[in-house]
Amino acid sequence: MSALISELNPEQLEAVTLPHQSALVLAGAGSGKTRVLTTRIAYLIQSGQVSPHGILAVTFTNKAAKEMLVRIASMLPIDTRGMWVGTFHGLCNRMLRAHHQDAGLPQAFQILDSADQLAVIKRLLKALGADDEKFPPRQVQWFINNAKEEGLRASQVETYDDFARKMVEFYRFYEQQCNKEGVVDFAELLLRSYELLTRNEHLREHYRGRFDHVLVDEFQDTNRLQYKWLKLLAGNRAAVFAVGDDDQSIYAFRGANTGNMKDFEKDFRISKIIKLEQNYRSHGNILDAANTLIRNNSGRLGKNLWTSEGHGEPIRVYNAPTDFDEASFIVEEVKSLRAEGVVLSQIALLYRSNAQSRVLEHALFNASLPYRVYGGMRFFERQEIKHALAYLRLIANPEDDNALLRIINFPVRGIGMRSVEQLQDEAGRQGGSLWAAMGHKYRGDAAFGPNSGDKAQVRLESKPWLDKPKKGVEGFVALIESMRQVCEKLPLPEVVEHMLEHSRLAAYYRAEREGADRLENLNELINAATSFVHEAEDDSLTAFLSHASLEAGEHQAGGGQEALQLMTVHSAKGLEFHSVFLSGLEEGLFPHDNSRNEVGGVEEERRLMYVAVTRARRRLYLSFAQSRMLHGQTRYNIPSRFLHEIPDSLLKWLQPVQKVAIRNEDWGTGRKGSGRVIHEPGHGVPARPADIRDSAASQWRIGQNVTHARFGAGVIVNCEGHGADSRVEVRFGRTGTKWLLLEYAKLTPA
Ligand code: ATP
Ligand code: MG
Repeated sequence: MSALISELNPEQLEAVTLPHQSALVLAGAGSGKTRVLTTRIAYLIQSGQVSPHGILAVTFTNKAAKEMLVRIASMLPIDTRGMWVGTFHGLCNRMLRAHHQDAGLPQAFQILDSADQLAVIKRLLKALGADDEKFPPRQVQWFINNAKEEGLRASQVETYDDFARKMVEFYRFYEQQCNKEGVVDFAELLLRSYELLTRNEHLREHYRGRFDHVLVDEFQDTNRLQYKWLKLLAGNRAAVFAVGDDDQSIYAFRGANTGNMKDFEKDFRISKIIKLEQNYRSHGNILDAANTLIRNNSGRLGKNLWTSEGHGEPIRVYNAPTDFDEASFIVEEVKSLRAEGVVLSQIALLYRSNAQSRVLEHALFNASLPYRVYGGMRFFERQEIKHALAYLRLIANPEDDNALLRIINFPVRGIGMRSVEQLQDEAGRQGGSLWAAMGHKYRGDAAFGPNSGDKAQVRLESKPWLDKPKKGVEGFVALIESMRQVCEKLPLPEVVEHMLEHSRLAAYYRAEREGADRLENLNELINAATSFVHEAEDDSLTAFLSHASLEAGEHQAGGGQEALQLMTVHSAKGLEFHSVFLSGLEEGLFPHDNSRNEVGGVEEERRLMYVAVTRARRRLYLSFAQSRMLHGQTRYNIPSRFLHEIPDSLLKWLQPVQKVAIRNEDWGTGRKGSGRVIHEPGHGVPARPADIRDSAASQWRIGQNVTHARFGAGVIVNCEGHGADSRVEVRFGRTGTKWLLLEYAKLTPA
């Protein structure tokens, strides 16, 4: 026991050893909140006050949950698998799986991630004939999620005008569609679990009796529904131990609510708020910078951090002529840090927006520095992985329309758009799934037997509207059914392997000229399944699919090796590194353009900046570029106001490197000059093939020949952006190179 608590300071010790009562620890970055929370769990178990079974702990990311379990396991010789430690989504998923019938869900219900959800909404709007200029799918998505996070069903949303009434109508159709397909989105996990506990007294009492201690990390970022869920679950008996920092509240835009802290004090009769003020993470200069910066915000609960460590090194500031120069500066510094003995995984490159990572990635790639990108494009969101998951989803539940649409003709099997539309019409008429419309009234596992392929044929023959694509559809149905049969008997990793071969996905990418990366990712999926089977209590295919929807992308190719850590500031929350590079400190980028017109927007950006600065233990680099190419345009920005808010005495300005860091050979068509390269549209950085990784851009690859109605024949030489922002650079024979927005360009493969 003493080993557990011997290093704690008196305030930390008090928090760890509090008796069975609710408590709020309110403290700044790096003061040991997470450590206190983890140690308290170990302490409670070791001192016999609670069994692992009686603990529920909520963390913000899966990564944090995993780390927490590892830390507890290292402190205590117990099996942590029975403990409920996870994110809100993860825990709700666990509850809904256990009580799917009470929750009105099929056993193998699937989880839609945000992109899947958008796809369902788009499909729905199209089917309803909605004008997508008036009702942009993203706005509908936002409306639905917002309502759910407020705890409201379509029937409960109040409307005051036609527009809102229309939105509610879409919400209602969306609800019906999801119920029909047996799928739930992220917000639904929480709402349904909340409704389940509200409605079902028996279950509510069961969980209230079970969880003696409920512990919540990053409490400042819980939204309203999450708070209500916690309150419902805790009842009057459980002790809720919440730790948080109002200065690090960075999800207000998503409904997180520091008002929850005030309510918490009241609802849980908190008599004393524990404050921790000693920072164990950063050297003095870094801490001073963070403290001074955040003082510019109003309405803080107020606290200051101090450290017993020295001032340490000054904060290094670099003024780069261009974003490319900024990237090569970072590369050089990383190399010298490494030469000083700092391991790469202890170095983080942070940025405000995902779009900034591309230039950094390119420079790192050229310098052969291994790196790993967190967030952004998550492993499970890559195109090839999505295809593979769609097959797995169909194996788990063939009535998943979303999955079916994704791969019904991928790899190509002669089922064209027209046939798919006919199928959709037929499904609409029957009011069932696409699978059912194919002539297969799927009735659970019993529905398919050794002869189901034959049955399929018989039924298909009686569908005149399917005559033409019959062969393709027949083949597809038989393929999925045979996979379902074979996979019943195989362990999960072999299911994945079998699927990859028999779907011909592996063969497809093997044959692709630039498919090596994608193939590697597909192999990584087998590895992910293998480690899932080792780690998870429930190693079923359904459990694996939920994991894929919920997990934050820890399984990445190359993830095992020592690598630089690249991520947005949002995803760096709670983490720490020896050295941190924060790039793109420009007005418009950080603080972000969007924030400037919103009430409290800049203050939220400042809290984000506070989070970024406090990730660094020993060394912090801040940099900005005078010109930057983003979304195919060169922007000229002034340095961020946040830079000016840090006292000059803490900063050391570095001189721009004089050498020509960027040469034509390195950067494609960048203009040669005095070390300053202006990148204009049409003079972008050549993207690596792996950069085309989202679905909008998925059918295009670098090197592909294309035709444009006005510009004629050309070849794709570059690409960037995601989703609706996806662009390609095409070199046309007649007119030279042009950047084109894929959404509008109407390119056709030549
Ligand atoms: P954040 O707000 O960024 O999430 P935090 O308050 O959760 O920060 P921790 O991550 O728990 O802070 O702790 C920061 C660092 O300080 C960790 O490396 C932790 O191990 C260390 N630390 C915390 N308390 C002590 C202590 N009493 N003695 C030594 N190191 C400590
Ligand atoms: Mg923490």
